[in-house]
Amino acid sequence: MRSKSIGLHILPLLRDMYETAIIFLYPAECRVCTEFLGATTIPYICNNCWQDIHYLEPPWCDICGTPSINGLCDPCATTPPRYGKLRSIAFYQTTLQQAIHFFKFEKKKAFAQHLIQLLNAHIPLDYSIPEYDFILPVPIHKKRLRERGFNQATLLANGIGKSEGVPVLTGTLIRHRHTQAQSGLDREARQKNLIGAFEIRNPRMLNGKRLLVIDDVFTTGATIREIVNELWTADPAEIDVLTLARRREL
Ligand SMILES: [Zn+2]
Ligand SMILES: [Zn+2]
Repeated sequence: MRSKSIGLHILPLLRDMYETAIIFLYPAECRVCTEFLGATTIPYICNNCWQDIHYLEPPWCDICGTPSINGLCDPCATTPPRYGKLRSIAFYQTTLQQAIHFFKFEKKKAFAQHLIQLLNAHIPLDYSIPEYDFILPVPIHKKRLRERGFNQATLLANGIGKSEGVPVLTGTLIRHRHTQAQSGLDREARQKNLIGAFEIRNPRMLNGKRLLVIDDVFTTGATIREIVNELWTADPAEIDVLTLARRREL
């Protein structure tokens, strides 16, 4: 009995010593610039790197939001997408890429609050979120949802929906087919891979409504294209898209 109680006292002490040793051996460093992390308001990322995010600003293509000084970009001028407009807050690189990586792939769900804050603080001026009837996060398949534990787009959508007072629909647009991972596929294969992957439950709900689709990263646009095609079958009034980040090579 006596030895057990001594053991219980020693354990936290040993743990503290162990943690101190770990910190001494591996001082916490910023995951972006590898400098000593020091006091920081965002976990894993130093204040300098967090402030170094380059937000996208006009001039941009009126439709797809790609930086463009001549109004519409060439692809939108020749084959306009079926959404009204798409904007992203910043390019998917350095700090923001790392932040989305923690959140999504390292499953650090609590990191969502920092990304929501960032999204809310940088909503493009040509977007008036309260005017949308519904926000729809890009859905993930239930198998992926089980693996990850959350849908990153839903957490972002809930954050923006709450602050702007717009209802978020999570059960209306469904990803009912688990597709092969998109990375590693070329543009054409990505689009083919997604055909028929999404489905709308209760389409009448969307009829005549203004919809805002939210996602974390806009990559080649294949997913958004397929979702927008599917949403039009419900005959909404308008479909716009907002993503936190976009890949630069677009
Ligand atoms: Zn840093
Ligand atoms: Zn464009």
